[in-house]
Amino acid sequence: MIYLDHNATTPIDDHVLEAMLPFLKSFYGNPSSLYRHGRIVRSAVDAAREQVAALVDAPPSQVIFTSSGTESNNLALATLPFQGKLSISAIEHPSITEPALRLKSLGSILSIINVDANGLITPESIDDNIKRKPDLVSIMLANNETGIIQDLAPYVKKLRANNITVHTDAVQALGKIPVSFNRLGVQLMSLSSHKIYGPKGCGALIFEKGTEIKPILLGGGQEQGLRAGTENAAAIVGFGKAAELAKTELAKRFEQLLALRKLLEDGLTTIPGLTIFARQADRLPNTVQFGIPEIDGEMLLMKLDQKGFAVSSGSACASDGNLPSQVLIAMGVEERLAKSAIRISLGVSNTQAEIYKFINQLKALVCQA
Ligand code: PLP
Repeated sequence: MIYLDHNATTPIDDHVLEAMLPFLKSFYGNPSSLYRHGRIVRSAVDAAREQVAALVDAPPSQVIFTSSGTESNNLALATLPFQGKLSISAIEHPSITEPALRLKSLGSILSIINVDANGLITPESIDDNIKRKPDLVSIMLANNETGIIQDLAPYVKKLRANNITVHTDAVQALGKIPVSFNRLGVQLMSLSSHKIYGPKGCGALIFEKGTEIKPILLGGGQEQGLRAGTENAAAIVGFGKAAELAKTELAKRFEQLLALRKLLEDGLTTIPGLTIFARQADRLPNTVQFGIPEIDGEMLLMKLDQKGFAVSSGSACASDGNLPSQVLIAMGVEERLAKSAIRISLGVSNTQAEIYKFINQLKALVCQA
């Protein structure tokens, strides 16, 4: 199989697995236990906290480990005051839109920040939303489908000057572009391990000191009392190792992925009628989303699967529905073209030969259709 769906998940790095194994076998102590067997695990969790913090340029004491990017996003939105005002961008992941809709059903006021044809949030929509005086704004740093990167820092400055708490979902940006919690200036940032060659089922919420976090899980006092539950030490250690590798290899990975993406895009543009969405926008180096008129994205995905290629037709987490990509609809893409969308997300083990094979196969399938 040629795997081209790294925004859905990445394979675990060998060094990450190696770092995790002792914590699945020998060091099984509870990190909250006071005896040595527990303290060893506690130190490993704290070392991982430092590694994750270093990747996003934040103090380790401001990292809360969670079970996933999804949990981090839910925890971030839970900071909204009861029946408060929330604004989210029109292109958020379901792990933001769904809790936002739940909050709305419980009496909160929800507004949407619009994006332009390139998927970038518009300054006018930010201003409109500021006028509504939201308590919390959530805007993702990079989009999982199109790869579009938002120029967030100036907006954050403006929002914070109006006493608005700002959260960013940095799950897809992490490990692909430099991410600095301090430079962005947000109060809350969500991360996930399995998008950066770490294990699944592990994430983090980075928070600014003084931000009022309301824990969703109550129980023991783990994670400064902000996320109860015995820590998944092996996964956290793996996340830490993956973060360390991502930091040292960031520039190399970026160049490698960008070169592969260019090759892919050069090939794609030889297919008549094919549109690369938001091609001119600043995008993640590994992500390309395209559409071909009159071709159903899900059908094409299944045919590519039969030929041994793993791709996505949009957000992996919503791929069981036959709805057009809501991200593309928000960008003003016509519904029929949006329904044809295919997302390719490259990873560090992809090769030029795989890209050529993919292009040839895609051409053959499109000709048959
Ligand atoms: N946010 C974005 C932008 C994502 O792409 C994803 C997963 O695809 C998530 C959040 C959820 O992360 P997790 O799979 O760790 O729950």
